Amino acid sequence: MTSALQGKVALITGASSGIGEATARVLAAEGAAVAVAARRVDRLHVLRDELEATGATVHVLELDVTDERAVQDAVRSTVETLGRLDVLVNNAGVMLLGPVEGADTTDWTRMINTNVLGLMYMTHAALPHLLKSQGAVVQISSIAGRVAGRGAAGYNASKFAVNGFSEGLRQEVTERGVRVVVIEPGTVETELREHITHAPTKAAIEERVAKIRQLQSTDIAEAVRYAVTAPSHMTVNEIFIRPTDQA
Ligand code: NDP
Repeated sequence: MTSALQGKVALITGASSGIGEATARVLAAEGAAVAVAARRVDRLHVLRDELEATGATVHVLELDVTDERAVQDAVRSTVETLGRLDVLVNNAGVMLLGPVEGADTTDWTRMINTNVLGLMYMTHAALPHLLKSQGAVVQISSIAGRVAGRGAAGYNASKFAVNGFSEGLRQEVTERGVRVVVIEPGTVETELREHITHAPTKAAIEERVAKIRQLQSTDIAEAVRYAVTAPSHMTVNEIFIRPTDQA
């Protein structure tokens, strides 16, 4: 076990699967105590058991990030239990792709509430602690936060919002020692696509990704590691990662 984050505490949302779960593993392996948050708490317990067996300290948080009061409680519980907060990884998200025309607008509501407001609530609740620890906020945005595309307008709206919020935040806090990092992955092999409700869009994506070598969750977790273990005078503002096969 390496120890670049020994004595530090990281809170990771959406840690019950995919990128968040991989990030919890990587940060725990760097010595951080990790608070892992998501709605599927059974999965978090499995992760906790796995990480504790390696000597890591793990705090499980059952959390829906769209519930602001629950977000505040989760941050408070993390600091009370683990003593501090150094790294917030805002990873929880949903990607409900489909055309604007005829869209089920409840998909938009879910994406804005989770990807945007959830991330903003988490940042707001964590910021006093991050200012105290001179910590870092890592936003798991997306290629969709930089490049808009057909069939992704609602998701694009949510991830462009993440990037705009994060740049404004960066300017507000960077001179007080808090680092704001935005990570923008292309296609990663996770459960994310399973939740798409627009059947033709889901089928088209499955067909497209079957032809490429997708990124793996660990690839993104390693980018998080790079950013949060960089020396404190250096902020990795943005990391844009595409699969080699994705033009
Ligand atoms: P997964 O579906 O595997 O993970 C999503 C995570 O978010 C789950 O742990 C889920 O946990 C959690 N989550 C969803 N809604 C909520 C909520 N309301 N409250 C708390 N947690 C929630 O997908 P990924 O790992 O791929 O996604 C992680 C992030 O990466 C997302 O923000 C996504 O937009 C982004 N991303 C993914 C890409 C990809 O191709 N996979 C590409 C670019 C960005 P639970 O259901 O247990 O609450």
